[in-house]
Amino acid sequence: VFDVLVIGGGPAGSAASIYAARKGLNTGVVAERFGGQVADTVGIENFISVKVTEGPKLVAQLEEHVKDYDVDIMKSQRATSLKRGEHVEIGLENGAVLKAKSVVLATGARWRTMNVPGEQEYKGKGVAFCPHCDGPLFKGKPVAVIGGGNSGIEAAIDLANIVSHVTVLEFADTLRADEVLIRKAKSLPNITIIKSAQTTEVLGDGNKVTGLVYKDRTTEALKTVELAGIFVQIGLVPNTDWLKDSGIELTRFGEIVIDAKGATSIPGVYAAGDATTTPFKQIIIAMGSGATATLGAFDYLIRLGQE
Ligand code: FAD
Repeated sequence: VFDVLVIGGGPAGSAASIYAARKGLNTGVVAERFGGQVADTVGIENFISVKVTEGPKLVAQLEEHVKDYDVDIMKSQRATSLKRGEHVEIGLENGAVLKAKSVVLATGARWRTMNVPGEQEYKGKGVAFCPHCDGPLFKGKPVAVIGGGNSGIEAAIDLANIVSHVTVLEFADTLRADEVLIRKAKSLPNITIIKSAQTTEVLGDGNKVTGLVYKDRTTEALKTVELAGIFVQIGLVPNTDWLKDSGIELTRFGEIVIDAKGATSIPGVYAAGDATTTPFKQIIIAMGSGATATLGAFDYLIRLGQE
């Protein structure tokens, strides 16, 4: 029986594991793919105290740091169920069941993609998902934001400060963002909003994005916009499908509901990072929340059996 079993090996899970091991707790970490989203990231310039790094390099450093401690690392393993009995029981895809006194859920999230030609090819070469991360790379250049929900309009307002021009493309004939955000976006001279626009292709020169093609859904006409960057803002999906039958409280978006100590609705079950209700999804925030969740679990463990 583990004292702390961490599910997920991204920044949140790595921090949770290290904090648990440093408390002398019997710690395990189950990760489908160690490193998580960081493994897919090209340049990272906002991991404070490290001016510039790259995803794969940071992943190797995370793993090296976790391996410095007595942590049972179970890679290429997928958790498929969570049940609370005497212990917390985590079922794995391979049929094994792991038992733990406490668990930290850190299974992260994934950006929803447009699934159009060119999108995968130009990921990290103009196709971006995180304005906080990649906005400054497009300083003074024109970009598009795909999606007119809150995250899309927030991204457009944010980017308008940095880039030369932002074109927002929304599939529907109305924007789904809050009225106050729409008003703010409309007040900025370098934001253009196009509704009923379906992006059909990302264009590039082989090295980087040069534009996109969209279909005007009212006339069916195809139009081209010249751009240096495309921010896809059509949703961040938490990796929590496997928790749907566990009884754990999730929001309607599938985010795990946590309190200030990372505690979920199930005693002994904590959560951290992009899979949770944390409002901002960033590496440094995921690491902090992983530390918080383990310290929350530690508080829980030292009280176990003392009632
Ligand atoms: P993740 O990194 O998503 O890790 C989740 C972990 O859980 C993985 O190990 C995964 O394999 C595992 N997992 C998932 N489901 C299961 C399961 N059922 N069983 C077992 N394991 C499972 N942030 C920044 O701060 N700066 C940047 O420059 C930056 N750039 C980014 C660029 C891109 C392209 C992307 C996609 C994201 C970027 N981010 C950036 C965001 C940042 O990567 C995330 O906020 C951060 O990785 C979240 O950490 P996490 O540990 O919560 O989740």
